[in-house]
Amino acid sequence: MKASKKPVRPRVPMPVQPPEERIRNFDEVATGYTLEMAAEEAARCLQCKKPKCVKGCPVEVPIPQFIAHLAAGDIDAAYRTLKSTNSLPAVCGRVCPQEVQCEGECILTAKGQPVAIGRLERFVADEYMHRDACGLISGKPECPLIDPHKKVACIGSGPASLTAAGYLAARGCKVTVFEALHELGGVLVYGIPEFRLPKEKIVAKEVNALRELEVDFVRNRVGGKTFSIGELFAQGYRAVFIGVGAGLPRFLGIPGENLNGVFSANEYLTRVNLGRAYSFPDYDTPIIRGRRVTVFGGGNVAMDAARTALRLGADSVHIVYRRTVAEMPARHEEVEHAMEEGVKMQELCAPIAFVSDAEGCLSGVRLQQMQLGEPDQSGRRRPVPVEGSELLLPTDLAVIAVGTRSNPVLLEAEPELDLNRWGYISINNDTGETSIPDVFAGGDIVTGAATVILAMGAGRTAAKEIARRLGCQPDD
Ligand code: FAD
Repeated sequence: MKASKKPVRPRVPMPVQPPEERIRNFDEVATGYTLEMAAEEAARCLQCKKPKCVKGCPVEVPIPQFIAHLAAGDIDAAYRTLKSTNSLPAVCGRVCPQEVQCEGECILTAKGQPVAIGRLERFVADEYMHRDACGLISGKPECPLIDPHKKVACIGSGPASLTAAGYLAARGCKVTVFEALHELGGVLVYGIPEFRLPKEKIVAKEVNALRELEVDFVRNRVGGKTFSIGELFAQGYRAVFIGVGAGLPRFLGIPGENLNGVFSANEYLTRVNLGRAYSFPDYDTPIIRGRRVTVFGGGNVAMDAARTALRLGADSVHIVYRRTVAEMPARHEEVEHAMEEGVKMQELCAPIAFVSDAEGCLSGVRLQQMQLGEPDQSGRRRPVPVEGSELLLPTDLAVIAVGTRSNPVLLEAEPELDLNRWGYISINNDTGETSIPDVFAGGDIVTGAATVILAMGAGRTAAKEIARRLGCQPDD
């Protein structure tokens, strides 16, 4: 479809808590569209005949169709359309990097602002009142009959496994999800903070809907330690899906990293989100509430850690990043929100050592200034140290958010699993199958740290193949 010359209306803004209020609570920052706002935004969609937005979505949500149903006021039909390819729309509407996916491809981008597809997705998912769990999972009102002989095990309960479990349960398989932690949802519960993704309202709702479809959840079970894949097959499981994520933190490898007051982002966010450390001593997990906090990294994890520290009462929070804000891999919206809240961006700086006080606690971090040189393999300009340009940033809490690796616990216990040279599981990309027959894998444990929607896409690919092998009802 050709873009017309008429100027387009700007997108309907998302209501948010004002920054000065939201830094005092853990409630959701964006409060969501009203019906009127959603209808107005839906009316901006041009209903392209060959929609580019769909190609920009890793799970190919029929975007114009769900928006058309919404514009016509039919929330049920809009939800069922969304659900036909996306099993967690309330999650994706909140955390997907839409600006580089569906919205990045929207034809209105060339003329101004793209349709706010993510906000509309969130609105429909939040608004839809499911009458039954089957409707919530599959978009179809009728429940399938679960066949107890079609037993499938999922290891890990992040978005990859939840998607695989939902797809299979909706087609009659008896699925059991084994999770190492005591709460279900993977990074959706222990990593992404409540102020971006509510746990009870959104994540628990999706998990409960799976329960009603007879998916069993077994918590506190560590694959490779408390059970093996061989034992699962011996118990009658006919296929296994591995979705254990990439939760092993990377460190900076600089002097002073073991000082009191230096945390990995994994530990920091897990303590706050999963351990509810923000309510210590009502909950048992303590946390250091830094006054001067420094976070290292430029991704979503760094933004989440910095904004969490602010909400825990820090006087100042700096994010130290080797490149500039423009090159940060975090979602634009998260960077904007962090800056509105008062997080200071220390661009073009790299840490070279942590400094302690007389008691062995962190008191500062020595930084070196950088400048941008020639582009590297990733296409981004390489940061190059500026000699003789050190500075000291006073800091009593440091959070390292420079990426993660695969956790070796399950992988070392299953030596027949082929790994790639980065230590992630190798799979057949068409089916998700690993080097062990009928054992599938997907999500961060295959790709390395990526996104929710890619993990979901991988769970769906593997589930489709498992369903085919077990002779389940084919897709409509
Ligand atoms: P995970 O979500 O990591 O889930 C894996 C699960 O497996 C965990 O529950 C873990 O406890 C369990 N497990 C591990 N080992 C075992 C074992 N041996 N036995 C049993 N269970 C095991 N993506 C976005 O798209 N948008 C965002 O805004 C965004 N923000 C993020 C913020 C943070 C702080 C983090 C850490 C990540 C963020 N991501 C974001 C990335 C996204 O969350 C991940 O890509 C996604 O969750 C990966 O899904 P997964 O199912 O592969 O693994």
